[in-house]
Amino acid sequence: MKPGAKIERVVAKAYRIPTEQPESDGTYRWESTTLVVVHAACEGVRGLGYSYADEAAAVLVRDKLAGAVIGKDPMHLPECWEAMTGALRNLGLPGVGMLAVSALDAALWDLKARLLELPLVDLLGAERPAVPVYGSGGFTSYTIEQLQKQLAGWVEQGIPRVKMKVGRDPGADPERVAQAREAIGVSAELMVDANGGYQRKEALALAQYYDELDVRWFEEPVDHRDRTGLRLLRDRIPAGMEVAVGEYGFTLDYFQRLLADGAVDVLQADATRCGVTGFLRAATLAELYRVPFSAHCAPALHLHLCCAAPNLRHLEYFHDHVRIERMLFDGVIGPVHGELAPDRTRPGMGLEFREEEARRYQV
Ligand SMILES: [Mg+2]
Repeated sequence: MKPGAKIERVVAKAYRIPTEQPESDGTYRWESTTLVVVHAACEGVRGLGYSYADEAAAVLVRDKLAGAVIGKDPMHLPECWEAMTGALRNLGLPGVGMLAVSALDAALWDLKARLLELPLVDLLGAERPAVPVYGSGGFTSYTIEQLQKQLAGWVEQGIPRVKMKVGRDPGADPERVAQAREAIGVSAELMVDANGGYQRKEALALAQYYDELDVRWFEEPVDHRDRTGLRLLRDRIPAGMEVAVGEYGFTLDYFQRLLADGAVDVLQADATRCGVTGFLRAATLAELYRVPFSAHCAPALHLHLCCAAPNLRHLEYFHDHVRIERMLFDGVIGPVHGELAPDRTRPGMGLEFREEEARRYQV
């Protein structure tokens, strides 16, 4: 590419994809997932980014963010980041604003890598060639049979760690977790995610029980905003179990507060919410606090970033997003021996959006 090239065009569209069946976790129910897809173009090259968001994020990209980056140099991503976040000053950043910024930020990183004819992992600089994943789903809406089949399926595929949802019905959770352990055997790692569905004392009591089933990961045992509660639990649950939080982090100060208050054993982050730029900064922040880092959902978008992030534990191979990414993108990588490795023969994130295929879901 020639020096002085400019970002010429930004296109954002939203797609609503129904789930296979109604799904729920500890505190939320859903029947569809909205994918916001952004393309940013320069000199005939198109960068692709996306977020799992709401139609409103596509509107914000079109109305507020496109104008902030068009005409800017696609090599100068920090300048674009400042322009995007600055354009939302009066609307507010955390929430839908950052979902919009994140989709466009990913498209700009992908565009830059494609212009340089590099896979994104090589533009960022890899710390590891492949990323361990964990199978994630185990919805509270599943029957015991569905739960066991899904979790055991990942273990059979060679993924040695799996996560299930709890927190919808605390009375029923011990039995569900025991049934899950039974299905995956003793050697696979079992993780639980309450999505903030428990009270403090309830979470502490259940942690003792989950420990007997060798559960090592207790995600959002209480509401993610209750940093005091998270810290209390972290100090009191069995030593072999970790508290993980961070998926609702939109801006760096959120991650900083979790870390500074000692609220997490592992920090999670989601680049579809805090941007590729914010994700990499959050990883550095976690490294500073000597806390391991784990990526939340959207595995195809996180793969290259996770190869580059310091101190990375793993990447969440989330059922709903795996299904959508396989259905609507070319270039999606599947796990081998529980790891994802980017295809370094493809530029950018290595993904192409199947626009024709997706049209029937367009909002
Ligand atoms: Mg979670």
